[in-house]
Amino acid sequence: MQAALSLAAEAAAQDEVPVGCVIVHGDEIVGRGFNLRNTMKSVLCHAELTALAEASAALGDWRLEDCTLYVTVEPCPMCAGAIVQARIKEVVFGTRNRKAGCAGSILDILNEPRFNHQVTVIEGVLADECAAMMSNFFKSFRQKKAAPVLRSYRAEDNPQLAALFFETIHAVTAADYTEAQREAWAPQNIDADTWCTPFLHDYTLIAEQGNTIVGFANLTAGGHLDRLYVHKGHQRKGIAAQLTAALHAQAQADGHSEITADVSITAKPFFLAQGYTVVQENRVERAGQYLTNYTMKRQLTTHTGGRKQ
Ligand SMILES: [Zn+2]
Repeated sequence: MQAALSLAAEAAAQDEVPVGCVIVHGDEIVGRGFNLRNTMKSVLCHAELTALAEASAALGDWRLEDCTLYVTVEPCPMCAGAIVQARIKEVVFGTRNRKAGCAGSILDILNEPRFNHQVTVIEGVLADECAAMMSNFFKSFRQKKAAPVLRSYRAEDNPQLAALFFETIHAVTAADYTEAQREAWAPQNIDADTWCTPFLHDYTLIAEQGNTIVGFANLTAGGHLDRLYVHKGHQRKGIAAQLTAALHAQAQADGHSEITADVSITAKPFFLAQGYTVVQENRVERAGQYLTNYTMKRQLTTHTGGRKQ
């Protein structure tokens, strides 16, 4: 079961529901599998089916009558059916699957007396570890799905912020800027603390999801939106809009009637959608490279008629 748990961890590492399975013949593992349903885009890629196929190939027979199958989670109807078909002698599983388990939870396919084969079932082996593997996975899955939270900047964020900046520039702007331009804009050997210096005195917000920084933005005292970056793995989820809305509110609270920003070719459509207009096109020199960007602005006051008396 330890071997099956290790395989389940491999599934979790690939963002797959962590189920692992090994098939033992004599004292030798002849089949291994872990869930890869999403990666392979196939419902057939459950841990048990992969292990059954590998065991059959190793033993040269579809019948696996002398084999014991260890799986971290109670088998689903599909896998339980295949286990009966393969005539597996014994199944050992870790934790129950209340929503789909077919070794007693929903159905008892492994011990259906009307079938021509019944399987000996042992449950609860390393149950706590197997259950924790599942609950930890779903907990972090829910955290990833939860909306990001905005918080204040802290100096210890610097390494993550600089890394996010570097990765985002190189991954997201490639269609609009050459590699040499991107390298000039976001050099490999950037010093995180130096690059993050403006955040110390600006109004700087960090978007965090779970324990991961997924975006950040800063506003100068003069009402200029200085930087806005969203993690390359979290684009088009509304994080940039969440950050800009918060900066607009702050700029307004600071008494500004408009906000300005220097915007890349890549980010221009986003800023247009946020109500910004182009003031001018710029050609900016960075380390000998010329990059096009736009100075854009947006009105912040929407009220008509002065109420100041
Ligand atoms: Zn299954």
